[in-house]
Amino acid sequence: LSIETRKPDWLRPKVELGPEVMDLKKTIRSLDLVTVCEDAGCPNLSDCWSDGTATFMVLGERCTRACGFCLVDTSKPLAPAADEPQRVAEAIDRMALDHAVLTMVARDDLADGGMAHVAACVEAIRLRRPQARIETLISDAKGDDSSLDLLFASRPDVMNHNVETVARLQRAVRPSAGYARSLGVLARAKAAGLTTKTGFMAGLGETDDEIVGLLADLADLGVDIVTIGQYLRPTSHHLPIARYAEPAEFERWKQIGEAFGIGHVEASPLTRSSYHAKSSADAVVEP
Ligand code: SF4
Ligand code: SF4
Repeated sequence: LSIETRKPDWLRPKVELGPEVMDLKKTIRSLDLVTVCEDAGCPNLSDCWSDGTATFMVLGERCTRACGFCLVDTSKPLAPAADEPQRVAEAIDRMALDHAVLTMVARDDLADGGMAHVAACVEAIRLRRPQARIETLISDAKGDDSSLDLLFASRPDVMNHNVETVARLQRAVRPSAGYARSLGVLARAKAAGLTTKTGFMAGLGETDDEIVGLLADLADLGVDIVTIGQYLRPTSHHLPIARYAEPAEFERWKQIGEAFGIGHVEASPLTRSSYHAKSSADAVVEP
């Protein structure tokens, strides 16, 4: 499909930003923070924020990798901001969030991949707003177990790491990552007793059989939550969209994944990693 191809109607949500959302935007700006919700122009923003969920990007906006689907800037990142854990905790408290998602760029420039910093953010939020559930959506830390353990020790309520696509397309879609390594991150999180979550995109050229095979692999690992959404090409420099999957296909993948034993599969064209993160976690985490 070319970038000019008109999107199907199911990918055109109505976006309404009420006064509460505008206030929250001001709070975030005053604390010099970045939410993925705003930065990525996420179509679900008013839905998520009014439901007490938001996703913060920590460790800066410059990534050391260049995945073919991602709009994040690839350049030399800045040193982590020492006061970021406190600022994030403050924002989450002021937004009165029930479910906070922390995500990060890949920080291959740091010895621990940035994991100690994310752990510090989790700990600061716990002190400031203990009732908020915390989900961390992390990079693979190059598969380094001791780095991952630094984060796992902070016991995020949900430990999310995306596989992004099926095994065959890994090299084309995320050249600095890999299928086995990502499954290894999820397996280690599971072994640490954490609730695990992952996600991938449809529409990059994978077959239906490959998606079913991926769901089987994730179920074998005991992954608790899986998200599946439509890939949307951010610019003409990014990977082309192979096709738009129909809403009924997402529904079928959800049924197959849950029949395989995955606790909750959130699947629809507009699903993103953190879409319905709160209710997805409710489905598998003890209150
Ligand atoms: Fe934010 Fe994620 Fe919701 Fe989008 S889906 S608005 S990024 S929390
Ligand atoms: Fe984007 Fe993450 Fe890939 Fe960096 S590692 S380019 S943030 S998907």
